[in-house]
Amino acid sequence: MSPSSYRNTYQRLLEVCAAFARRLSESEPDLSTAFQDLLRDSSQILQATASAIWLLDGYKDSLQIVAQHGLPQHYVDEGNRLSEYQRATASRVAPVYQAFDRGEPIWITGLLAHVDSPFHKVAQSLPFNTIYLAPMATEHHSQGVLTIYHPDVLDLEPEDILAWTNLIAQHCSIAYEQLALRMQLESQLVELDRANRYKDEFLGAISHELRTPISIFGGFLELLEDTATKDWTAEQHNFLRMMTGAVGQMTTLVDGLLDYASIRAGKLRLVRRVHDVVTFVRVLHESMLPYFKERKQELQLDLEFAPGEALEISFDEKRLRQVLMNLLTNASKYSKPGQPINLRARQITHALRIEVIDMGAGIPEGDLSKIFTTFYRVDNDSTRTTSGMGLGLPIAHELIKAHGGTLGVRSELGKGSVFFIDLPLESPAPTTEDLDLPDLVR
Ligand code: ADP
Repeated sequence: MSPSSYRNTYQRLLEVCAAFARRLSESEPDLSTAFQDLLRDSSQILQATASAIWLLDGYKDSLQIVAQHGLPQHYVDEGNRLSEYQRATASRVAPVYQAFDRGEPIWITGLLAHVDSPFHKVAQSLPFNTIYLAPMATEHHSQGVLTIYHPDVLDLEPEDILAWTNLIAQHCSIAYEQLALRMQLESQLVELDRANRYKDEFLGAISHELRTPISIFGGFLELLEDTATKDWTAEQHNFLRMMTGAVGQMTTLVDGLLDYASIRAGKLRLVRRVHDVVTFVRVLHESMLPYFKERKQELQLDLEFAPGEALEISFDEKRLRQVLMNLLTNASKYSKPGQPINLRARQITHALRIEVIDMGAGIPEGDLSKIFTTFYRVDNDSTRTTSGMGLGLPIAHELIKAHGGTLGVRSELGKGSVFFIDLPLESPAPTTEDLDLPDLVR
């Protein structure tokens, strides 16, 4: 065979193998057609009379023909029956098992002349004189065997046909293993998704159940506070404060879990109205001052608007307050007493930008993209010493996204963080959903 026709054959076989791999990488591949096309095209290029793919049937522990080209059906049936029988008894004798077990390509020739050979009859009828067998195996698994039935033609060397059979078998086994891995991964993903849904449903249900008793506690504590008299000891007042604080903490946790469940179930609804956002930020700043004072931190306000200037935009007041309170309490939690926190608002191109700037612990670069995923907390001293569940930022992220805006962060470890919200100046007109549907989240 001339070098150019050798290269040409090699190239055409590679193309057939690549087409097979592409077919298997489709989302729902038709495996048997892909196998059949591979066999048909490779048989044609190699001038073979027939070809077959034998795969290991793990249950029967035998090799079965799963696809073939050019073989008579009775040979396929017989081959399958024989291979089961031989596996159980004298498996080493059958050539497919020899190639499979040895993990090496082999060939058996002179079949037309061997009248006693079990292949003689079929070899005559097709005809073929040589069978080439190459194991389909990867580093991890032996999958089966590719067989090429060849009439021996003058311009092809048996060594070349054997090498090519082996090449096809290798490509085929890699593609097949990738498909098996993908299917395994997909079924694991389905399992994980199911487990995740159970977890979400469980969290949603348990949070719902906890909410009522917690609000009863909260209600009675308020009543107790109202009726607390001067003759209560300082210790009694202290206990009451601690209980109120603990109930507040539980309420925040349960509300976070309920929000999380609503977002996961796709039930998050915003109630957007047009508000002056400058006044909104100013009022929020004022309402947070006592919290920061108690934590010995200064909360500065930096409004880049002219005195009396208003900026009307459409947003869900309760939800934006929730997001900003989360960012502000985080800034406080992850800063030390004495470290100031800055709440800044200004107009940028097509958006309102609100920033919460702290000079606290900062966030390692590798964690920056992860802090918006649920239940993620940076593993360092600053989180170990503060309470939290890793739910605030993911919820905030979803709430801002629902507004058509973005929530982002810049941070440097040990120097501090800037969390920023960009809200579009022109929000989409409120939909009927926004206005009429009951707010399922609250
Ligand atoms: P958590 O309840 O743990 O505060 P969040 O979702 O609000 O949950 O935040 C996720 C993680 O991001 C926190 O555990 C913390 O590690 C990090 N983080 C958030 N805000 C800050 C900040 N201002 N400074 C440093 N780290 C922060």
